[in-house]
Amino acid sequence: MPSPTLIRKRLNELELRSKLRARPRVQGRVLAPAGAFRRLPRTAGLYFPFYHDVLPEYAGDLRRHLLTFRRHGSLVSWDDALAVLAGERPLHGPVFCLSFDDGHASWRDVVVPLLRELGVPAMFFLTTGLVGRPGNLTWDDCRAIAAAGFDVGSHTVTHRRLADQDDGDAARELIDSKREIEDELGREVRDFAAPYGHPAVDYGERDLEIARSAGYRSFASTLRPAMHPGDSPLAINRQGLHPAWPLWAVRTRVHD
Ligand SMILES: [Zn+2]
Repeated sequence: MPSPTLIRKRLNELELRSKLRARPRVQGRVLAPAGAFRRLPRTAGLYFPFYHDVLPEYAGDLRRHLLTFRRHGSLVSWDDALAVLAGERPLHGPVFCLSFDDGHASWRDVVVPLLRELGVPAMFFLTTGLVGRPGNLTWDDCRAIAAAGFDVGSHTVTHRRLADQDDGDAARELIDSKREIEDELGREVRDFAAPYGHPAVDYGERDLEIARSAGYRSFASTLRPAMHPGDSPLAINRQGLHPAWPLWAVRTRVHD
């Protein structure tokens, strides 16, 4: 049993973190000093930076992040990233593979136009229960994103933490979301990102087993280290970022 002091400390940390998440520029400034001891990748490694919504006020910031990644290496599609892991594509320097989670309407209004302008591929992990809700994409929007050449993966139906679900509910989160995206988009869905994404805390071996038997080929977490050829596509490490963060804050998450 953790002591009351420890619990209070943990709650204060959580409260601080959620306050900071609501104010990403402040969060970025708080993180930035720790970036002084890191550098953006210069050696061979595969990185999977990911974002959520990108409000119009952050479009210029996202552009700066993406141009910075491109200066340090190449930006590749999810397929190409998996080919690197499988050893089918050489990995000489840093390679970045971008993804976005949940299904915010800003994907349509801000993210996709910017990615198309820069010619940057990306994966969009969709929480199917959010589709059609206020502030989120419609299925027509999702079809347009897929038709524009972007990848769409599953991020569950309800965005609940898989580890909290019984076997039946966990299976539904993984299988129903896959099926619904496939029905709506008319293309196979083989890639999954777990909500919250910490192995052991947010999902477990059972969920990986469900994913494997449902036909997923990749399963993304939110562990951060760089990946390399030979690493498993069922344990993709991704680095969560906010476009409002200065590059020093990005360096705390994406570094070699
Ligand atoms: Zn999410």
